[in-house]
Amino acid sequence: MAAREFDPFRLDVEAFAKEGATLAGRWPLAQLDRLAESALAEPGSNVDATAGREVTWQVRGELRALRGGESQIWLQLNAHTELPLECQRCLKPVVSAVDTERSFLFVRGEDAAAQLDADSEDDVLALTRALDLRELIEDELLLALPLVPRHEVCPSPLPMSAADDEAAAEAPPHPFAGLAALKRGSRLN
Ligand SMILES: [Zn+2]
Repeated sequence: MAAREFDPFRLDVEAFAKEGATLAGRWPLAQLDRLAESALAEPGSNVDATAGREVTWQVRGELRALRGGESQIWLQLNAHTELPLECQRCLKPVVSAVDTERSFLFVRGEDAAAQLDADSEDDVLALTRALDLRELIEDELLLALPLVPRHEVCPSPLPMSAADDEAAAEAPPHPFAGLAALKRGSRLN
């Protein structure tokens, strides 16, 4: 008998786990709308920032036997992409790798899932026969985005540095700047 075909957009999670099945694939980044929105195009360029970029992923189902009870249903997920984000130092695009590796426990019923999810370090989801893996993978990659994307070394010269200096000159003094000056003064006395 041929292995059963599973649909990544309507995954029967329990059947998938019972077979210990694996699914893997790659999707154009542009198909993951919310993630694609984070991608920053080169200023002045009309090339789509997601062009040629992909999300690669793999999901494995697993049944874990529990003593004296029903087996647990698990999915192991990993996914990877690279996308240009806004460098928080120079504001130009910096291509950042985004990886996620997660385990999900599936239980029967939304209430049970919510309860267990709150009590457990694992992610607990309600069992479904029609799990949209793309939505799940997109959620996890969004959570894995770097909080402060930055070039290791920004392209030089920094195009913003002159503007920054001006902004700093016009900005009101930092409230503690006066205090620091006072301290320096008192130390001189
Ligand atoms: Zn930078």
